[in-house]
Amino acid sequence: MKLLEEPIREVLTLRNYIDGEWRDSQGKLLEVVNPATCKVIAKVPLSTEEELKAAVEAANEAFPDWRRTPPLARARCLFRLKELMEARFEELSRIQTMEHGKTIDESRGETRRGIENVEVATGIPSLMMGYNLEDVASGIDEYVIRQPLGVFGIIAPFNFPFMVPLWFAPYAVATGNCVVIKPSPHCPISQVKLAELVEEAGFPRGVWNVVHGDGTIASYMLDHPGIKGICFVGSTPVGKEIYRRCGERGKRVIAQCGAKNFLLVMPDADLERTIASCLTSFFGNTGQRCLSGANLVVVGEGQADSEYKAFYRKFVDAFVDSASKIRVGYGLDESVQMGPLQNKGRKERVLGFIEKGLEEGATLRLDGRNVRLVGDWPHTCFLNPTVFEDVEPDMVIGKEEIFGPVAGIMKARSLEEALEMIHGNPYGNAAAIFTSRGKWAREFQYRVQCGNVGINIGIPAPMAFFPFSGMKESFFGTLHGQGQEAIRFFTESKVVIQRWF
Ligand code: NAD
Repeated sequence: MKLLEEPIREVLTLRNYIDGEWRDSQGKLLEVVNPATCKVIAKVPLSTEEELKAAVEAANEAFPDWRRTPPLARARCLFRLKELMEARFEELSRIQTMEHGKTIDESRGETRRGIENVEVATGIPSLMMGYNLEDVASGIDEYVIRQPLGVFGIIAPFNFPFMVPLWFAPYAVATGNCVVIKPSPHCPISQVKLAELVEEAGFPRGVWNVVHGDGTIASYMLDHPGIKGICFVGSTPVGKEIYRRCGERGKRVIAQCGAKNFLLVMPDADLERTIASCLTSFFGNTGQRCLSGANLVVVGEGQADSEYKAFYRKFVDAFVDSASKIRVGYGLDESVQMGPLQNKGRKERVLGFIEKGLEEGATLRLDGRNVRLVGDWPHTCFLNPTVFEDVEPDMVIGKEEIFGPVAGIMKARSLEEALEMIHGNPYGNAAAIFTSRGKWAREFQYRVQCGNVGINIGIPAPMAFFPFSGMKESFFGTLHGQGQEAIRFFTESKVVIQRWF
């Protein structure tokens, strides 16, 4: 076992970034723990309401000048930020592994996705253009211009602590708005490092602010009249509440929420590649991904009973065998394929679901509670891949979001039955089908009620120039993060009707 060098060598005391300054918080400090080593790596404040107010005030003061800054000049700040992110790519990635537990390759992927959003936002002069039409009536022209609104709050989850704020912030500032970011208190360090790069990139003071804290500070953001809109990514109960409160207060809102994703394996799927894709989907990021596979449905469309039985057994045995070989350990060891859960509470929650699955009569085929690690790490946050068979859609483990490395295998005798299972579930974040047949793939894509659809792809993560979608209990709002939809979210259209006398 060989570990990459840890970029955090002493316990950091994190500060808020307000009005272009690093300010100590008066709030209580929480410990940030590396879940693989169980060592404290930072202390993060639960900021006070006064500190949040100072950030919102600074952002509102910066807004008039920033919106008047020509779009190309705003884009230049983003170009410099991109260059700095590239230069610090490895350090940013290793920090994510230390604060979250994901493997270094997963962290590198997250950093890359974050940078891609900055790259897309540099296209702001064309992305933000309005449109016009001459002679809508005799001698009258009409045109639409897009204008920024002011200050936006961004509330981030723990599972993609670096990337998620970048689904929003680059587009917000590119369009001339200012932002206040509240990172997850579990994984706040990579947002601090990002803000250091923002400062180095030369953004004017007050345009980009970071205020640490938990739900309490996020709640102040919802109430603050100086915040025009909220971008939230996190669990469904919190997202619903945020959507309701933003509605009451007249704020714009994007609330991207929880998930329970189904992956369908059709009889003609390419087994080897399907298994590889399913393994990454179920166990990548230790199952803590809103696009993670949760239920794996083996579909026997058009097969006789005996044929289906043989196909089911062959696929499931191969899947379980491959899952049992996944190397679990500290993500800074490049040979490791799966890291720990992000914290002890997360692991306990997943253990509760495993118990529930046993109580409900599902068959535990692979028990990840027998922790086997590469390296000698405390078992506190670790679980190995876990697979249940005989899971039914109405079991707790079949319908609720587990957010851990637990796969539930289900049976369906037809595509129709599999679609009914998906549609009976309250969530609608992602779903995938593995097949070589265009007809099934098209039928699935056409009918499935979810926001992100994979065809022979286990994690259908949209690129930065496409919206990150979601339906049903997985999304509350109208426009989504990333790309052109984010530009629309962060601007309002003004229509000008013009006649010259
Ligand atoms: P969470 O809902 O516990 O917290 C998310 C953020 O909201 C954190 O910053 C937290 O401090 C804040 N918060 C907590 N309580 C709040 C309250 N009452 N009011 C306002 N803010 C509050 O979620 P989490 O555990 O950090 O993240 C995991 C969840 O995020 C999972 O459900 C996952 O599916 C979801 N997620 C969804 C997407 C997506 O795009 N749909 C992407 C990533 C994660």
